[in-house]
Amino acid sequence: MRVNAYAAPSAGQPLAPTTIERREVGANDVLIAVDYAGICHSDIHTVNGDWGPQPFPVVPGHEIVGTVTEVGSDVARHAVGDRVGVGCMVKSCGTCDNCRNGDEQYCRDGMVGTYAATDRDGTTTQGGYSTHVVVDADYVLSVPESLDAAAAAPLLCAGITTYSPLKHWQAGPGKRVAVVGLGGLGHMAVKIAHAMGAEVTVLSQSLKKQEDGLRLGADHYFATSDPDTFEALASSFDLIINTVSAKIDVSAYLGLLAVNGAMVNVGAPAEPLSLNVFSLLSNRRTFAGSMIGGIAETQEMLDFCAEHGIVSEVEVIAADQVNEAYERVLASDVRYRFVIDTSTLG
Ligand code: NAP
Ligand code: ZN
Repeated sequence: MRVNAYAAPSAGQPLAPTTIERREVGANDVLIAVDYAGICHSDIHTVNGDWGPQPFPVVPGHEIVGTVTEVGSDVARHAVGDRVGVGCMVKSCGTCDNCRNGDEQYCRDGMVGTYAATDRDGTTTQGGYSTHVVVDADYVLSVPESLDAAAAAPLLCAGITTYSPLKHWQAGPGKRVAVVGLGGLGHMAVKIAHAMGAEVTVLSQSLKKQEDGLRLGADHYFATSDPDTFEALASSFDLIINTVSAKIDVSAYLGLLAVNGAMVNVGAPAEPLSLNVFSLLSNRRTFAGSMIGGIAETQEMLDFCAEHGIVSEVEVIAADQVNEAYERVLASDVRYRFVIDTSTLG
């Protein structure tokens, strides 16, 4: 079927309306009418070529919430009319040790990304900035009805990408967690870490968003443009989640970790990050990374968010505002996630 979409025609070019082909619904597939699609900074890195060449035209979008309109003959877990979500991954081998452990994002055959990736049938995947998507049922999540659909969309990437490391590194009561960057991922990290019971500090470039940060669940808020911040907070955190989309001075942030503390990088800037190893040796610190989360863990995160009434702070936009939204994200002027109302795709 031919559906309306918004695509980047080539690297760095503005997105424009187009149509794309969706495959026929296979036995284990679900056809989803997309209601909302979040704008992740990864969409911008991809279409701007920050991460290397891409199979243009690219339809981004991996924070999808929609309604099931058709299911294949073998699908039992989703039914027509269900409210569902799709995140960053639409397929993996399902049989390797990582897939079997629920870490499909680290599939040994490589997970298939929701867009700009080569699917198992050789076609290129196209994402959620479109009216419909066909996805293997095993990679489709159930989105609790109690969550607002538009505000739930960012949970599918920003939510799971922060939930997974917060859980893995045991954020909870008695843990001092710092979140670097109060953007899409950062504001979800604040809400989720707070709900897990951790003491949460935001480290933002300025104090412009301090009131918001405290309202979202942070206990403390500091500006990283103020050099005193790094002295005042030296050796004071158990866990730092870095969500910054640009290069930062990693060693300076490592200095904020207490003994056995870990700094987890989820930000994925174009440029390599460097560090002074002495900032790791001291206090037996860890510098780590984490990529999204597995399917079962994503469902667990959605259920956790429903239980705690957590959604993203969103600004819902029409499709023709996408390019302007990209500019605002690049200027750190997002509060805190843009979400496309896909009914505006015509
Ligand atoms: P975002 O909404 O743009 O947030 C990034 C935040 O970083 C900004 O709001 C800003 O926060 C801070 N920042 C931006 N430029 C900075 C600079 N030059 N120096 C210091 N701080 C700066 O982006 P996002 O959607 O949250 O994504 C963040 C990063 O995570 C991106 O690189 C994205 O590709 C990556 N990502 C990774 C995964 C994964 O699986 N690991 C998943 C999704 C996204 P303040 O204004 O508060 O300083
Ligand atoms: Zn994303």
